[in-house]
Order: sequence, then C-alpha cells, then structure tokens
Amino acid sequence: MKAFVKVVLLCSSSITLAMGCAPKEKAHTELFQVDQTFMPYVQNFELVASEQGKDIKITDIIIQFGPTNSINETGVCEITTNETPRITINQGIWNALNNNDQQEVIFHELGHCIEHRLHQEGEMLGFNNRQIPVSIMYPYRIPGTTYMANVDHYHEELFSKSNEF
Ligand SMILES: [Zn+2]
Repeated sequence: MKAFVKVVLLCSSSITLAMGCAPKEKAHTELFQVDQTFMPYVQNFELVASEQGKDIKITDIIIQFGPTNSINETGVCEITTNETPRITINQGIWNALNNNDQQEVIFHELGHCIEHRLHQEGEMLGFNNRQIPVSIMYPYRIPGTTYMANVDHYHEELFSKSNEF
C-alpha cells in the first residue's frame, strides 16, 4: 500500500459529518510547515486546482521526510481532528523518483489531506489504449510516465470530487 490514512472524526452521523464538522476541523491554530523540497509541488497543486475551477490556498499542512509504515510505502497522510494534517514522505524512496513521480506522490497525499479523497481502486483505458488507474488516488504509486501521459484526466478527476470523508 502506498499510503495509510488515519482518520479520526468525532461527529455522530454522516449528515453532521458533511456540514457540521467543517468549522471544528479548524479549531486548532493553522500551521504551514512544508520542507522546501515539497514546495514546488504544493504550489503546483494550488495552480492545477485553479485550472480546474477550485480556489485552494493551502494554509494548514505539515509535509516532512520521516519514517513510513513500511519500507515500500512512499508517503502517508494523517488527519486527526483538531490537528494540522500531516504528510510524511519516505526520503529513500523519494530520492529515487523523478520530478513527475514526485509530483504524483505529493498530489496523491494532498488528495487525502486537503481534498479528503479516499483511495480509488478502479482502472480504465487511457492514452494509447493502455490500461491505467482511474485516479491519482489509486492505492499504489502511478509511474510518472503514466501520470503525465494522462495528466489532463488525472487532474480533472482529482478535483472533481472532494470531501469524501
Ligand atoms: Zn493513499
């Protein structure tokens, strides 16, 4: 598994989850603490969101290098009520990736931590009739070449759904 999402939500029903939880999620002081390595991808995430018609300014996130749950896990997003969402990236894996791979990794984790997307398992026919994951939220890392060959689809899909938990 590429990433594990820890979600702790205290609302008592799915209806209050959709509406009532939002203000409580900001009951802590916002913190923007992003390792410089990841800044270009955070800025690209906001840019791509705006291209997709979503005005997103990320003000509350921690992105850092650190240990993940296994040596094969590239990144993890942790969301805990009343805390700043935290993304941890395995530096050994990161260093072996090219820029496209790296952007896919950060967009996937921001998909969890900012867009509140869950994993999407499905596949579809992509560019050149190749079988590809339907979403950047696929549980396993999508190679940067596949990501960029289908980038319009992946970016549209990423921002067309949100707040799924
Ligand atoms: Zn994930």
